[in-house]
Amino acid sequence: MPLTDIIGHERPKAILKAAIRHDRVAHAYLFHGDPAIGKRLTAIWFAQALNCDAPVAPEGSSGSPEPDTCGICRSCRDIESLTHPDFMLVEPEREAANLQIKIEQVREIEQRMIYRPLIGQRKVCLIDEADRLTLGASNALLKTLEEPPDHSLFLLVTSRPSALPATVRSRCQTLRFAPPARARVEAALIATREMPPAEARFLAVFTEARIGEALTTDPQALRTQQAEFGALVAPAALRSVTGVLSAAEALHRAERAPEALEWIFRWVRDIVLLRLGADPELLLYNDRLPALREPAETMSLEMLLTLLEDLDAFARAGSRNLNPQLVLESVLLRLRDAACAAA
Ligand SMILES: [Zn+2]
Repeated sequence: MPLTDIIGHERPKAILKAAIRHDRVAHAYLFHGDPAIGKRLTAIWFAQALNCDAPVAPEGSSGSPEPDTCGICRSCRDIESLTHPDFMLVEPEREAANLQIKIEQVREIEQRMIYRPLIGQRKVCLIDEADRLTLGASNALLKTLEEPPDHSLFLLVTSRPSALPATVRSRCQTLRFAPPARARVEAALIATREMPPAEARFLAVFTEARIGEALTTDPQALRTQQAEFGALVAPAALRSVTGVLSAAEALHRAERAPEALEWIFRWVRDIVLLRLGADPELLLYNDRLPALREPAETMSLEMLLTLLEDLDAFARAGSRNLNPQLVLESVLLRLRDAACAAA
């Protein structure tokens, strides 16, 4: 795909184009940043741009040619469909219980990357979710990165760069990717998914502008969940303690307590944002402003912030260390107490 189709990431894109234009492409890059914002897409573009049979080079703003892919030649299409002999994609094996890139996969990289390109200019190896390399695998990869074959290019993609050994990171040129501006994500959703603006805004806020997620998430399913879990924190639902406890128990039985806690986090975050004077456009529940205003005006900010911290701690620790049912009960009862105190 042409580079203009990748939304945002102006700085990494400019750096990669300059590297091509000045023939200064490094042997290894590390693309890092939030999940699902376009890192892998940019890596595939880079592989295409280096191997394209008919690279487009329209006049750039500086008057010099801007390297880009044609997107339609054999090479571009084969890279996109992962059938190009000089392009390999390595990622964690999905079937495995815990996602890992194993040493055998790195051995295969070594064997393939050592040969010169068969038809293209550069032999490119894209390692997605590179933070999933096992220790043995990253040590093996390090040896290759220390003495990369001349014609080779390694593109490591990760949302958790700190999980990679520093020795591997130091062998790569690092490029940081930030989520694109929310307005651009909304515009893309309206253009490509023909969404009404309110729906596009909702999805952009929900995904925190992670464009890859926004483009593939079903807004209707989200709205259904939002309504379902929104009912949990409605004043009527909080009125009865037994009602709160049985709702928490039922959700736990259905293994949906963590999901409920995520939605309560978003609800409380909206209350806090409103309290702090944020633009209502930034609120996920901005179609329920009156329901948000009341707790925003009456509940203690300190209580709300503590609640957010605890919900965030649960999201990070997951159900490994904490019992989701107990956390859900405690969160709902605290919201209930705060609502009663305010009444
Ligand atoms: Zn092409």
